[in-house]
Amino acid sequence: MRAIVLDRPGSFRVAEVPDPTPGPGQVVVRVDCCGICGTDLHIMDGEFPPTPYPITPGHEFAGTIAAVAGDVTIDLPIGAQVAVDPSLYCGYCRRCRSGRDNLCENWAAIGDTRNGAFAEYVAVPAANAHLLPDGIDGQLGAMVEPLACAVHGLRRLGPVFGDTIVLAGAGTMGLLLLQLLVRAGAGPVTVVDRVAERLAVARKLGAAQVASALGDLDGERFEVAIDATGVPVVIDGVAGLLDRGGRLLVFGVSPAEASISLSPFRIYNDEITVTGSMAILRSFAPAVQLLGASAVDPRPLLSAPLPLEEFGEALRRVRAGQGIKWHITPAK
Ligand SMILES: [Zn+2]
Ligand SMILES: [Zn+2]
Repeated sequence: MRAIVLDRPGSFRVAEVPDPTPGPGQVVVRVDCCGICGTDLHIMDGEFPPTPYPITPGHEFAGTIAAVAGDVTIDLPIGAQVAVDPSLYCGYCRRCRSGRDNLCENWAAIGDTRNGAFAEYVAVPAANAHLLPDGIDGQLGAMVEPLACAVHGLRRLGPVFGDTIVLAGAGTMGLLLLQLLVRAGAGPVTVVDRVAERLAVARKLGAAQVASALGDLDGERFEVAIDATGVPVVIDGVAGLLDRGGRLLVFGVSPAEASISLSPFRIYNDEITVTGSMAILRSFAPAVQLLGASAVDPRPLLSAPLPLEEFGEALRRVRAGQGIKWHITPAK
């Protein structure tokens, strides 16, 4: 089969590699579509410490069941359409056993620490494959993974009924979070992004107000602030817009060594709550459900997918900030 092989940071090729076969408890998925996300850029650049090289990246994907190991008891017929939760938790460490699997001491993930879905086929644990409802094509199915991260983020944040919200970042995650917030009964949501086209999409998806810079919101106060940029100065900026009693959700991925200057006096005196959200925790099935019920519509975020051979071009477009979400169709 053909696959993207990243031999070392900064160097990838479209390679001919052996077809995977299902190991015990596994299925092989023929990959219809796989999304490119910020983590893939970090893996490309050698900035994602858990990743070993060589590796085939790709963790946001959907496809069809192509082979099933003899010991698999889950009903996953050949040809069934699935989205795959890339999370691999050990199940026995202290955090897994206390229900915090996403913080697993032995954390691993398909496409991040082992070969993923920028390939025609990928072998995955059968339990990670979720059947997709009718009408969800491969590209929509590949959006389940980022949506599952957004669902976990909202669960971490807690109820938002009627709350005024400022959300920084109208990329894929910001726009998925926005739709969930609106569905969850949030008060007016203000979205901030530098890119006018993204703000136009945010408007379409339910933002009550948009701004191209945090400075435009001086004097306003919000009950909830969400960062979906990972840019430390932006996190400080949205935190600065919080009303007393406010809640800050740190969703975007900052550089590991970065810090913010949020005042501890303010956290104390204004009773500010700071919450983090990391990846997926039992939020994959709800994301499938939300997509199947059209409660969230990723379509305004999507560009036309590119073939595996154009992986480099897709990366270039992501880095150039063109479009919002890019996908590769490895098996086409
Ligand atoms: Zn991702
Ligand atoms: Zn664990």
